[in-house]
Amino acid sequence: MKIKDLRVYLTKPGVGRTWVFVEIETDNGIVGVGESTNAGGGGALIVGRAYELLKNDITGADFSDGLVGQDPEHIDRIWHQVYRRFGTLGSRGLATTLCSGIDMALWDIKGKALDRPVYNLLGGPLRDRVHLYSHVAPADNIAECVADAKRQVRLGYTALKLDPFAPEMAKKHRRYIDGKISAQAEEHADNLMTELRKAVGPNIELMIDAHGNFDLPTATRLCNRMLKHNLTWFEEPLQPEGNEALRQLKSNTDMPLCIGERKYTRWDFLPILEQGLVNYIMPDICWTGGITEMRKIAILAETYYVPVTPHDASGAFNVITGAHTMMTVPNFYRLEMSDHSVKAYNSVITKPLDIRDGYLHLSDRPGLGYDLNHDFIKANPDPEWERSHSR
Ligand SMILES: [Mg+2]
Repeated sequence: MKIKDLRVYLTKPGVGRTWVFVEIETDNGIVGVGESTNAGGGGALIVGRAYELLKNDITGADFSDGLVGQDPEHIDRIWHQVYRRFGTLGSRGLATTLCSGIDMALWDIKGKALDRPVYNLLGGPLRDRVHLYSHVAPADNIAECVADAKRQVRLGYTALKLDPFAPEMAKKHRRYIDGKISAQAEEHADNLMTELRKAVGPNIELMIDAHGNFDLPTATRLCNRMLKHNLTWFEEPLQPEGNEALRQLKSNTDMPLCIGERKYTRWDFLPILEQGLVNYIMPDICWTGGITEMRKIAILAETYYVPVTPHDASGAFNVITGAHTMMTVPNFYRLEMSDHSVKAYNSVITKPLDIRDGYLHLSDRPGLGYDLNHDFIKANPDPEWERSHSR
């Protein structure tokens, strides 16, 4: 079997971000699907262009062997080839995002070729369904947010996340400047969490995502102030670069911490685990290197008895590939998704996700079990991507 073609699709599913999908076709007609959706700043356009570069050899450039003509069953070899190719640009982020989509598509091809679901090729299922957690909104309206939480609990979700600081901090979302929050916004967050806890009761898990917006004294104060809400975790209290700041925060709060959507590969997670900096890790399967790397990170975390809880801010194949991987991971906590995005997830695939009672149920269809809905993608392109390709 040889790789015959690589195609990249940038689509606007109607929930804000552009989703990036990749298809790899083999010479015997099997098509594998992967996702490399990126988060903002035009990242989707860079990833799309880089995929086009990966397809064929680049004449006169070293380390530039194209994917066409390679054996799609050599998943690890191709992963390392892509990962090392852009080492001087930075192997974390861009390279691992490219690895992610290719890796997913190659696992899909292998499963389809062998007529087995991907989770069966990863060691087989440890569980028969995948526990989810969802998002509640809007954070700027306590009554509506509480109503949304109650609605989702009725649907069967038992863990809910939000950024209660977002009404003020969303303007600087992940764009850290001074790391401060006003007293009023902090008070609003506290009141919102009080009302949510009151509404859902003690048995529903609640998590806060702070999107890395705070400096060390602010993060320490907020973690300690939120302790009374009995949270499962406080996510990304700090920006992702400084492990020492995380160590200082950890030693000054009893709040359980979770980080990892902006950590890439096993090498980034090792010091976090070695130093015991967090209670949960949340690698993003579209950013950290796909199914192969997610599994390696999960195994590393298993040796520290730290639960893995894959991050999702992307499209359907983030959720689907995360679910396949977590079917086989003992130290799995929950898979992130948003009930508000289910319609968008289903719009880009040809069969709907089977979500019942807060769980995602995978089928025994071969490969990943889902294909791209080309009619939807064609009808909803990223306008900038389309414009740059019509010149
Ligand atoms: Mg987050």
